Amino acid sequence: MGVRTLRGIGVSPGVALAPAVIVRWELPNVPDRTVGPDGVEAEVARLHAAVARAVGALEQLRDRVRDRAGAEASGIFDAQVMLAQDPDFLGQVEHLIRTSQLSAETAYEFKALEVRNAWANSQSPRLRDRLADLAAVQVRVLFALLGRSVREVWSGPTDAEHVVIVTRELSPGLTVQLDREQVSGIVSEEGTRTSHAAILAHSLGIPCVMGAVGALAQIQPGGTVLLDGETGAVLVDPTEGDLAEARARLTRRRRTELELQAVVHEPAVSPDGTPFTLLGNVDLPEELESAARWGAEGVGLLRTEFLLTGRTHLPSEEEQFEYFRRVGAAFPHGQVVIRTYDLGGDKFPAAWQAPAEPNPFLGWRSIRVCLDEPQIFRPQLRAILRAAADRDLRVMLPLVTGVEEVEAALALLTEEAEGLARAGVRAASTVPVGVMIETPAAVAIAETLARRVAFFSVGSNDLTQYTLVVDRGNARLASRFTPLHPAVVRQLALVHAAARGAGIPASVCGEMASEPLAVLLLTGLGYDTLSVAPPSLPLVKSVLRSVPHAVARAAAAAALEAENTRDVVALLEAAAKPYLRHR
Ligand code: PEP
Ligand code: MG
Repeated sequence: MGVRTLRGIGVSPGVALAPAVIVRWELPNVPDRTVGPDGVEAEVARLHAAVARAVGALEQLRDRVRDRAGAEASGIFDAQVMLAQDPDFLGQVEHLIRTSQLSAETAYEFKALEVRNAWANSQSPRLRDRLADLAAVQVRVLFALLGRSVREVWSGPTDAEHVVIVTRELSPGLTVQLDREQVSGIVSEEGTRTSHAAILAHSLGIPCVMGAVGALAQIQPGGTVLLDGETGAVLVDPTEGDLAEARARLTRRRRTELELQAVVHEPAVSPDGTPFTLLGNVDLPEELESAARWGAEGVGLLRTEFLLTGRTHLPSEEEQFEYFRRVGAAFPHGQVVIRTYDLGGDKFPAAWQAPAEPNPFLGWRSIRVCLDEPQIFRPQLRAILRAAADRDLRVMLPLVTGVEEVEAALALLTEEAEGLARAGVRAASTVPVGVMIETPAAVAIAETLARRVAFFSVGSNDLTQYTLVVDRGNARLASRFTPLHPAVVRQLALVHAAARGAGIPASVCGEMASEPLAVLLLTGLGYDTLSVAPPSLPLVKSVLRSVPHAVARAAAAAALEAENTRDVVALLEAAAKPYLRHR
């Protein structure tokens, strides 16, 4: 069979060559649940919201496939959309909810099984052929109804020493389950560089390509896959020539890595003497060690929601306390910024039963969840206060859009601190509280926020998403996800000015902080603290140490005047060129 090449987006660098293990979603296990007469209408509404969500996802897929592979290839999704919306079937589910007072998922699963059985036993080959489509649609709807808890089926040489995982949609849950010794690479049909699963794969150092449309159709279980997590190329059954080329690329990459490693223990100071602070973004406990090894001075973003990944229960206060203490102990002399739960958006761990929503990134996520569900938030605040008894830990609130949210969170923190003091529990009486600036709303009120909080950290992933109205996880829009867009650049300048005006520190912890050109821009705008995924620390430090600060300042000033992304990039590139080799 001839070699086939798929083009995706390189989201985690490195080259992988191994047999494919295909991971597909299995139908979730649906509990039988009745709701009583008063709950019926809410269940019908949940059903329709879940169907709308599944249809939205399928339409996105269809459009993307149509653009890249033509109308014929995308037809499968048209068919799936029609199946998902089948009024006859949905009418039957609705009827069952009303007559038997069943939960939406119980009724949907019941009717879905009925139809699947009928199709499987049908004399019509056409219906039998379409069973996979039907199952795919039903998984999506059930997945939405069950708050996204889903299980997957693995096929291929799962016991092989090394494998490449091929899947439709890489979830954070699946990513963290992967055995890093065994999994040499990941290919996902959906997703982009700022999808949370991509951030995790990068943090874990697993080469990964996302947005590889057609991967599941082209790659057979056990087929040999060669992927390049930098260029986004995926070769199926590569030739000897392809392999030789890949080996050469790998060698070049290793050499660059070795060169970069040389800076790990050097200070983060520009050639003209401006010092910077480089911190690590830590998603999983295992990353503490790599953050320290790659030279992080502290933790600028501890993504606490990943404590929930792969679990069925929320972690207790005690467990969080132990974890935060451990993080503090790993960086006894540096700052540690604990971000409170940032659930929702594209993070739906099974331990948190979230309602299905048509627009999760614009929905009930992050600080909104924490403030509405104090039984989730309060134990986390207590755990932080207790761990801060003898360490300088800081709290960071995500997705803030209004000062009321900050006030409400501060009030809860004070209540918990007083409660701990009354109970005689050893804990800090308070901790510095900062906010993430990752919504245009927060930028617009940055001066007001700066008067209420101890620090800012810019979440450029969400700030870019919400400013440019580009879903950060949508592969089809990946080229439009540009943190160097003037609309983002100007907001970065405003935020820094607001922080400076109030005398509080401002850092950047989104993925842009690990892009060499963006490092120039950010430092040039005055940001002196950057927090990045541990594997990016050496590269960022080498950029900081290579480019004179005066050059970065001049480039940033010019970029602020630029009218489009292309000009911003060109200005930064021109400034960087004499100094940067590792781009
Ligand atoms: C961001 O939005 O830039 C950020 C750092 O937070 P997260 O990627 O976890 O949403
Ligand atoms: Mg964010």
